[in-house]
Amino acid sequence: MTPKIYKNPNLKPLDRSKVKLLVIHCVANKCTREFKPENLIACGIAKFGQPSYHYYIRYTGEIVPILPENVRGAHARRYNSCSLGIVYEGGLDANGKADDTRTEAQKKAMEALLKDLTEEYPDARIVGHCELPYVTKSCPNFIPSKEYASLQPENRNTSISINK
Ligand SMILES: [Zn+2]
Repeated sequence: MTPKIYKNPNLKPLDRSKVKLLVIHCVANKCTREFKPENLIACGIAKFGQPSYHYYIRYTGEIVPILPENVRGAHARRYNSCSLGIVYEGGLDANGKADDTRTEAQKKAMEALLKDLTEEYPDARIVGHCELPYVTKSCPNFIPSKEYASLQPENRNTSISINK
């Protein structure tokens, strides 16, 4: 069963006008195994006291909303107050090695979601977790700023510096 959007009045609000980044992640589970939304939520709560992400993209291309967009996520240290978090199921190959394991359905769903979000947040740039400063892991195992270059805002002079 797909969980309803997670609501908790104790979570910090996210000011929609401050959203300048759409940060892409992978769960980093083996792509040969299912990782249910309930597990994703439980992981976030165990680590950060709340679900981490706003949207979860399953192998099938199903997009599961987790956090409302007006609530702060817990997915990108230092950037949670100015970003939305999007995570795809998988990210490790069958042997447990980091890889871009997105299915065709996931790629389509991710592009569609990002198109919607960039319309809603025209100043927001699309980046991968690994493209943020101080991040040493390879998540999401591809470079979203390049893959989605055509969806990036025209005005690149955002106040957010992500140059490494
Ligand atoms: Zn990540």
